[in-house]
Amino acid sequence: MVDLPGQYRKIRQEVDAAINKVIESGAFINGPEVTAFQRNLEYFLDINHAITCGNGTDALQIALMALDPEPGDEVITTPFTFIATVEAIALLGLKPVFADVCPRCFNIDASGIEQVITSRTKVILPVHLYGQCANMDAIMEIAGNRNLRVIEDAAQALGSEYTFTNGMVKKAGAIGHIGCTSFFPSKNLGCFGDGGAMFTGDPELAEKLRSITLHGSRVKYYHDMIGVNSRLDTLQAAILDVKLKYLEKYNRARAEAAGYYDRALSGIDRLILPKRMSRSTHIFHTYTLKMAGADRDGLREFLKKRNIPTMIYYPVPMHLQKGYSKYGYRKGDFPVSEELCASVLSIPMHTELRDDQLEYICSSVHDYFKT
Ligand SMILES: *Cc1c(COP(=O)(O)O)cnc(C)c1O
Repeated sequence: MVDLPGQYRKIRQEVDAAINKVIESGAFINGPEVTAFQRNLEYFLDINHAITCGNGTDALQIALMALDPEPGDEVITTPFTFIATVEAIALLGLKPVFADVCPRCFNIDASGIEQVITSRTKVILPVHLYGQCANMDAIMEIAGNRNLRVIEDAAQALGSEYTFTNGMVKKAGAIGHIGCTSFFPSKNLGCFGDGGAMFTGDPELAEKLRSITLHGSRVKYYHDMIGVNSRLDTLQAAILDVKLKYLEKYNRARAEAAGYYDRALSGIDRLILPKRMSRSTHIFHTYTLKMAGADRDGLREFLKKRNIPTMIYYPVPMHLQKGYSKYGYRKGDFPVSEELCASVLSIPMHTELRDDQLEYICSSVHDYFKT
């Protein structure tokens, strides 16, 4: 699904030099590379504050903590996401409230959000799934009208751009009150372990986010609030700072591979190819097909025999996860998400895909539908 060693080999000297510099310095925690990387992230996203942390899940939790929710407050999000989105909500004693997704873009359908807003609603938490932004025009408008906060889960969309109806362009993660991302190795900007970051334009929120990551302190050993311990290692920051320079190139390589898939697979009427939404660019964290009458397991098995990996992101919607049964959701509550869980299939997508590999994958998919 990904080729991390292949990507590393092309920038080995730069990365090795950056790693060695940190090791020689001994500044493994909050070294100067962390500050430098935060500055470069701010520049990349065109936002005033980037605060790094231990991973993307922590970023979501810390973002929520910074908004001072009371237990029982509600956070509206999508049932079609990775568990971390909902886990962060649940861990803080908040209630995940779902609005179903749109069947073609797979992101939260803004028209369903308003219907589930209550007096306890505090936050709207859209996820920019697979590399494409949710409908941020509508989400920011609803939040503005109802005085709600917006936290973006941009773990899969770093570098994606959203164009508002008024022509303003913003990067995913720099749109809501707080944006969150992950540097998990397979993400579009991945480190060599775990990492995450939060973004905000609000200086007060930025200070709060930062102090939460430092055990709730501004001055060492004085704790003004309950925090956590969540840091990006200096080594990871040094690696990420090298890779950030290549992120746009990496995202272009993914888009090119996606273009190849689009052209080569467009003739198969039992497959629905990923739709490009007009307002967002797509950075193809994944290339995800939807079955239209095709047998997903059959296709997976067939490709597996040809050594082509596939993945299902995600097989179970959040509202039907066993560990989350206390929220009382039932099968049938979010039919679009449930249908997607039963019909999506992701094929290999990364920065190192060669034409011969793409050609092999696509001809194999065609062979399956010929049988
Ligand atoms: C990867 C991911 C996360 C969590 O990131 P980690 O760094 O693995 O904790 C959160 N949300 C989404 C949508 C993700 O894809």
